[in-house]
Amino acid sequence: MPKNTAQTNNTPGISFGSRTDVGHVRDHNEDSLTVVPPLFAVADGMGGHEAGEVASELTIKTLEQLAPAHPDAQALERAVEAANLNVLQAPSQGIGREGMGTTLTAAMIEGERLLIAQVGDSRAYLLHQGELQQLTRDHSLMMDLIEAGQITPEEARVHPNRSVITRAIGSDPHMKPDIYELNISAGDRLLLCSDGLSTMLEDDEIQTIMRHTPSPQQCASDLVDAALQAGGYDNVTVVVVDIEGFKHNKVVKERRKSHALVIGIVIAFVLAFVLGIFAGYQYVNNSAYLIEENGTVSVYRGINDNLFGIPLSSLERTTDIAVDDLQPGVANRIKEGMSVGGIDEANRLIESYEQDITRQNTEDLAQNAPNSADANDHDNASQADRSSADEKPADGD
Ligand code: MN
Repeated sequence: MPKNTAQTNNTPGISFGSRTDVGHVRDHNEDSLTVVPPLFAVADGMGGHEAGEVASELTIKTLEQLAPAHPDAQALERAVEAANLNVLQAPSQGIGREGMGTTLTAAMIEGERLLIAQVGDSRAYLLHQGELQQLTRDHSLMMDLIEAGQITPEEARVHPNRSVITRAIGSDPHMKPDIYELNISAGDRLLLCSDGLSTMLEDDEIQTIMRHTPSPQQCASDLVDAALQAGGYDNVTVVVVDIEGFKHNKVVKERRKSHALVIGIVIAFVLAFVLGIFAGYQYVNNSAYLIEENGTVSVYRGINDNLFGIPLSSLERTTDIAVDDLQPGVANRIKEGMSVGGIDEANRLIESYEQDITRQNTEDLAQNAPNSADANDHDNASQADRSSADEKPADGD
């Protein structure tokens, strides 16, 4: 990991930034960091003569190689223990110096899971809903004294032994890291830092910067700047990770969206179908037609057709009107089935046909009476014949 370089990258669900600086006092930067999602880590080496640098780099490299692909507490713990053994064995291979060591604060993030492995006094903080909370407990003499009630945090900040740590990678082959498993939420901001930040800045100052910097890289940069402005007595290293959202939640939401879309389309189709049926039913029910049945005109409600074999009409009424008594044009149309605007119109037509026929008969009678005596006589004769025929049975009695 190159020193003093800012690194940013974007992966689904998180974004992050980082920065490390040697500070104003030290000759070397013995801090190391890594940002290879889902793994993020800060290590603060010690040992003098560049050995601290070797210890922190070796630890970070071991972690990069052996950390699990997903947050797995036991696998991460094994990777940290392997780093510890590597640092312990390295001097025998000519790498670094006896007694070198390092802190390690390593985080793995996946979905809403945050896994942390902790050794020493580097720290993990979480800004959650604007409130900064320290997630890790320092393995330091100061923390032991504070917890024993012997000194206050303010006194610890300026205590001459403030750098003494009680657990480190590279000092004990049986060392085990503290493991923290937490749930995180979208909008949370994770900070990993070496003590070069947390000894130079109060938690309130860290919180203020973390609240008010929009991007994680800007936040990392501003935190280091603030530590340098406060004195920069130590190497200062920060990693900032923004939890933007959860991939699986997004997928679920997208699935829900597509489900909703499908349901919407189905509802639209069902509505359209029902409306279509209703409209069709209304149309059919409001339609009517006249058609010849057994020589007379019948009125049907509906349309003279069928749908999949189902007739779309029902008999409304029959009449005494003989189709042959109607005008030839009308008669022909009625023989084939004559659509009309509705039952009311059908009834008006029937009424008008009846009137036409009555008028026609009256006119026929009126025309025949004055114009042709023969015809009249013939009619009379016919009637007389019928009368006589009717009377024949009476005669027989
Ligand atoms: Mn330090």
